[in-house]
Amino acid sequence: MSGYDNDFVSKLEHSKEVVRDALNEYDKVAVACSFGKDSMAAIHVAREVDPEIPIFTILTPYKPVETFEYLVDMDKKMNINPIVYLVGKEVPPILKDNNINVKLLPTDKFETACKEAEKESGKPIYEYDPDKCCTLLKVDPTKEAVKDLDAWVCGLRNTEGRTRKDYKEVEKRGLVKINPILTWTEEEVLSYLKENEIDLHPWYSKVFPDGRRIRSLGCAPCTVPIYDNQEERDGRWQGTSKCGGECGIHTQRLK
Ligand code: SF4
Repeated sequence: MSGYDNDFVSKLEHSKEVVRDALNEYDKVAVACSFGKDSMAAIHVAREVDPEIPIFTILTPYKPVETFEYLVDMDKKMNINPIVYLVGKEVPPILKDNNINVKLLPTDKFETACKEAEKESGKPIYEYDPDKCCTLLKVDPTKEAVKDLDAWVCGLRNTEGRTRKDYKEVEKRGLVKINPILTWTEEEVLSYLKENEIDLHPWYSKVFPDGRRIRSLGCAPCTVPIYDNQEERDGRWQGTSKCGGECGIHTQRLK
């Protein structure tokens, strides 16, 4: 007997139906996982429909060390077996030691952009040009990850922030994208994870004296805590033109 109310039971069944329909319609489907709370709910829902559905993740050198540790921990607990795409020259020791499947991607463009940022502004690239940083570390690696797919599944939700209100459950612009938990609220995601005994990334339980908390998780330099009356993604890229916005994987054609 679950602790869900009737509305959420219907919502959950619908989410599974969205995944089921996608798997019936498309041959090559995988789930993208950032190891944030929404991704963990999305992969759990997708695996309820197909326990073998492939999962991929895009890591960057700027992800918190806790994200690497959490990935390994959750892989052990849930047997996620993710394929990691990472712009880098070497597999991080924690991933290597735990036999995580890592596909390293070339670093030359990123290194050049970092040097240019430093020369132009004296700032790191994520401050000087976060759009370029996200393009090189997230969008381009995602294009590589999805290049052979017919559709991908994401944990995107309408109530996360100003840029996500108009997304649909199935988007067919370019590569087909399936958003099975699109209408879930933040509270529903958290209670679903609790009900299914899925640990949260430790940054969600960080304590800040002023009552703020991490509610949307990205790279360390671009993630700050926010108050409960803000929108979840308001803590992303604060102090830049991208504040509360998008890295680009949901706004650009991936193929
Ligand atoms: S989230 Fe920040 S650090 Fe990460 S890729 Fe984007 S700009 Fe760079």
